[in-house]
Amino acid sequence: MDYTRIDANGQLAFTQSFDFLMIPSFLHGFQNNATSTKTAKSGRTVFCFEGMLDTFEEDRVCSCGAKMHINDHPEITLRHLPFGSSLSCVHFERNRYVCPRCGKTKLQPICFKAPGHMITAELYQYVCDLLATNTYNNKEVAELTGLGQNTVKTIDRGRLRGLYRTKDGSLIKPEKPAKFLGIDEFKLHNGYRYATHIIDMETGHILWIAGGKKKQVVYDFIEHVGLEWMSHVEAVACDMNSDFQEAFEEKCPHIQTVFDYFHIVKNFNDKVVSEVRKDEQRRLIQEGDLEAAKALKKARYILTSSRTTLQEKDAQAAQEHVIHKGSDLFKTQDIVRKPGQEERYDKLIGENKLLFTLDLVKEKLTLAYKQTDECLMAQEVIGIIDICQAAGNRHLLWFGRFLENHFEGIIAHATYHISAGKIEGINNKIKTLRRQGYGYPDDEYFFLKLFDMSRRSYVRNVPSHRFCD
Ligand SMILES: [Zn+2]
Repeated sequence: MDYTRIDANGQLAFTQSFDFLMIPSFLHGFQNNATSTKTAKSGRTVFCFEGMLDTFEEDRVCSCGAKMHINDHPEITLRHLPFGSSLSCVHFERNRYVCPRCGKTKLQPICFKAPGHMITAELYQYVCDLLATNTYNNKEVAELTGLGQNTVKTIDRGRLRGLYRTKDGSLIKPEKPAKFLGIDEFKLHNGYRYATHIIDMETGHILWIAGGKKKQVVYDFIEHVGLEWMSHVEAVACDMNSDFQEAFEEKCPHIQTVFDYFHIVKNFNDKVVSEVRKDEQRRLIQEGDLEAAKALKKARYILTSSRTTLQEKDAQAAQEHVIHKGSDLFKTQDIVRKPGQEERYDKLIGENKLLFTLDLVKEKLTLAYKQTDECLMAQEVIGIIDICQAAGNRHLLWFGRFLENHFEGIIAHATYHISAGKIEGINNKIKTLRRQGYGYPDDEYFFLKLFDMSRRSYVRNVPSHRFCD
């Protein structure tokens, strides 16, 4: 691809540009007559295109119909496109008109100025294009364009509003009817306030997102999409500890509630595994077995992870081990082989009967959620309830009752085979965005950002070591 400099008006113009990023450099109505360079605070070179604005007779006609006089010529500088690592701006005077009849004043319009910003429409579009690639975060876009992060954020919010809000400010309607919905709540940045999202479980698109975690969110959503749209929905996946189920059943009794695998396991980990581990730790300390207590204290992660996750982590660790060996940084004999996570897990459950029972329940839950026949799934779940009762432990007894109380919604999973992946995917995106600082302090922007992210098939996750090797 070759780039030719065209000397029309002394401006830089390229004959070709990348397909995905157009870089228009010609400013309509602007005559560039001199170009100077200066150095920005950051040390970067700034090309300053000085020139004149074309004037048009119709611009000086007042709303009262009289012809306006030129009053004065205030100067204006607009930030323009970066050229490589250099920045640029345009600098010119524009006329201020005053009406001899009614006294009104007005400024000469600039057709290449982005409304609301002291930048050119070209730079505005370039910022939007960079943001739309979803490759750069706001800080990187600010760096690339020489703009402040707040300006980038304001532009991004405007861009997302244009994409996902209608003229009256409400969210866009779902693109198509949904068969399965998922609803879940999540914590906002300060950890005290909650928000709720409703997703299409097949596409993963967020359809509704609002502050709070009350039934009202469901009512508002149903009003937003309408009852006709809701009539296509067959099932909704949600957590057992929410009011959402009731709200859906009230308004749309045809919808089947399904308690998905993700939430069952989350409840089991939070309210059974963690509690049993703490109880066991206390017991071991009382019995004076401090070493075993210590081992258990560190085991929260491996006890709440699935066996597949542990195996993956072990495989990853083994691979890094090989890399280190290959790099000659370590002599092979220096490496003391640490037991893998799965090995540690097996040791723990081998030594503790109660932990063994937890493992059994977890494995049987996974198996139950693979069933595609409600009768078979019911049998599996009843088997789990029996194990919980036989164990006699108070946390397991609670879990047994928990399964009984939500039995219908659990076994409905066999019919409405809702994958846990979409809910987990959204939860991970929320975490990623919060880490990048989008969640603070602007909820609307955070919500729009999530709305946008859920509509992207691939979220690039740049590893931190990318620039080091
Ligand atoms: Zn007038």
